Amino acid sequence: MIAPGATIGIIGGGQLGRMLSMAAAQIGYKCHIFAPDADPPASDVAAKMTRANYDDQQALGAFADSVDVATYEFENLPADSLAVLGDKLLPGTASLEIAQDRGVEKRFIETQGARVAPWRMINSEEDVREAENALGIPLVLKSRRLGYDGKGQAWVREGSAVAGWDAIDREPAVAEAAVNFAAEFSVIIARTAAGDTAAWDAPLNHHEGGILRRSTVPAGEPVAGMMGDATEIARRIAEALDHVGVLTVEFFATADGPIVNEIAPRVHNSGHWTIEGAATSQFEQHIRAICGLPLGSTKRIAPRVSMDNLIGDDVNAWAKLMSEPGASVHLYGKGAPRPGRKMGHVTRLHD
Ligand code: AMP
Repeated sequence: MIAPGATIGIIGGGQLGRMLSMAAAQIGYKCHIFAPDADPPASDVAAKMTRANYDDQQALGAFADSVDVATYEFENLPADSLAVLGDKLLPGTASLEIAQDRGVEKRFIETQGARVAPWRMINSEEDVREAENALGIPLVLKSRRLGYDGKGQAWVREGSAVAGWDAIDREPAVAEAAVNFAAEFSVIIARTAAGDTAAWDAPLNHHEGGILRRSTVPAGEPVAGMMGDATEIARRIAEALDHVGVLTVEFFATADGPIVNEIAPRVHNSGHWTIEGAATSQFEQHIRAICGLPLGSTKRIAPRVSMDNLIGDDVNAWAKLMSEPGASVHLYGKGAPRPGRKMGHVTRLHD
């Protein structure tokens, strides 16, 4: 066990690192952020920051020596560089390597007995044509690496799928059939090194333009009827990865049951509601899991909870939101709003 007072290294300096640092501070830990940016959101609230590139072996080595345990707040990191952290890194590089490559991820999910959208690996124009024949149109092309919030994705609704591959610069990709879903939801689960797990109520997620807009719990039908299956899939995935910490599995709710969209080996935007809405937040739970503390209760503490992202100019309404009784406003300290940039969020507990 890594007792309070110890230093937790966090690789990545965004809002997830910021909220992890605040949760860690609440239970007596100090955080050391490792990120390439000047003044990232997490460094405002952490004890220490190292500014270096994610592949800087020397800086990572010194960082490894200075922390008691280390974790990451996003998955687009070079797994081989992080190997220098050895056993101190939780979750380990297996979770990272699977989640950062959409092709590897889909194969892995299928080997766990879960379903994904019909898909094909894309490395050549011939692959694109074969995918178009096999999957039909519409389909979506997604670059295997470095995609998030709808970036690196191209929908093909008419014409040739090759144009879609051009739109993502002919990067190694996956092609996916369009899923006819009734809703999107996510299972957020924490796992300890001893194999204990705890999941929160699955939020119903509403996306716009590939970006999460709103999460609500409970998710209602048809998600409620597939919660058991989906939670078991998430537990199996966490187990197979020997994942320690929080893991998120995003699902489509379809007439045939849950289909996995993707995995994030970390705390997730759709879990922000847990800060005010659950007995233990996803951030504190992640810290507990990686430090070997017992997991906290994931009980929801209001009949209904909603979380709205403040994207781009939405954040300009902060003063009005703060005057709303019962609205918990979170601002990430990111400076000037840009379109599509997550600037903060607001959580509401409803009777
Ligand atoms: P992703 O980056 O893969 O999470 O995709 C972002 C969003 O695009 C998802 O949350 C869905 O709303 C939508 N989407 C992605 N893949 C598909 C698909 N195969 N079929 C239908 N909608 C999709």
